[in-house]
Amino acid sequence: MDLRVGVIGTGAIGEDHIRRLTDVITGAKVVALSDINVENARRIADKYGAKFYSTGEEVINATEVDAIVIASWDETHAKYVIEAINAKKFVLCEKPLATSAEDCKKIVGAEIAGERQLVQVGFMRRFDRGYRQIKSVIENGKIGEPLMLHCIHRNRIPGPKHTTEMSIKNSVIHEIDVLRWLLDEDYKTTQVLMPKRSRLAEEGLHDPQIVLLETNSGIRIDIESFVNCQYGYDVKCEVVGETGTVRLPDPANVLMRSKGTNSYKIFPDWSDRFIEAYDIEFQEWINSVKKGIVKGPTSWDGYVACITADACTEAREKGTIVSINIPERPTFYNSTVDNK
Ligand code: NAP
Repeated sequence: MDLRVGVIGTGAIGEDHIRRLTDVITGAKVVALSDINVENARRIADKYGAKFYSTGEEVINATEVDAIVIASWDETHAKYVIEAINAKKFVLCEKPLATSAEDCKKIVGAEIAGERQLVQVGFMRRFDRGYRQIKSVIENGKIGEPLMLHCIHRNRIPGPKHTTEMSIKNSVIHEIDVLRWLLDEDYKTTQVLMPKRSRLAEEGLHDPQIVLLETNSGIRIDIESFVNCQYGYDVKCEVVGETGTVRLPDPANVLMRSKGTNSYKIFPDWSDRFIEAYDIEFQEWINSVKKGIVKGPTSWDGYVACITADACTEAREKGTIVSINIPERPTFYNSTVDNK
């Protein structure tokens, strides 16, 4: 039987997830949705045969809804996730889990109090084939112990009102999560360097930035964040180990020869670059929820990512190296809990 999904937030990624749940993956049906942009939400509800509700809370508590997807603004995530936990429904919340570590902590507390893991965070890079291959290379010892990581996260242009802080809390947060997952280690310190500012960055945005992270075992990571690079969406990750290196492949695109030049297209944004990762993320989420478990990134992972992003912001503001203090992980999050 199809899992009946309610979606809160039907903007760019929310509508894409509804398309994905309806047309791409199996085992799910979008039955309810809500968005403060009522006109657009009603259009999408009609298109996909879902029921429109005026509020996210109504979607969460609707009896015909088994599980929730949250794709509304960052600031709304925490209240909807807690409402879903209280309703005892599985929820996939787009990243970030919340806009502050304090709110993430409340979510973790609510989930533990409910004695059931229900929350998955939309860190879809963990489902990308390239990152998964890198993890397998590391875990099989094929390059020895990882020593250094060199990473790049470039966007063609930023979204509206993008700030210096958002480059880390909203964008680099993907690296913060996926690298911690690749290395199976938390971070110890961070420092943020500010290179010469691009003249194309709007007021309120210092772009690019370089985020430096050090893991508990001493692995050094550098991440270039450049949200206004103009030429396309470009994500790179190279792990340097004791006996070799491994790096993400460029996404497959046809190689064209024309006018004396070899060329291939660079994707304009994340939606095409990680389309397969989103599909796998949602298929695996539906499959695991049907078994009554959470297998993807948990609220604890969302909490740790937020603590780390906050430390990076502090490091940028102070211009110094800052310690990252991650609390001990509750045993509740040690392994996937089989709730059935
Ligand atoms: P978006 O296009 O602005 O869509 C967000 C939608 O949420 C808008 O339709 C907005 O209404 C609506 N909304 C705002 N507050 C709401 C509320 N209280 N209840 C219900 N709906 C509400 O943004 P987006 O790019 O789709 O991003 C949505 C979320 O996904 C963000 O948290 C973002 O960080 C995340 N995201 C994740 C990835 C990823 O790679 N995993 C990629 C992109 C985005 P209005 O139209 O009136 O503004």
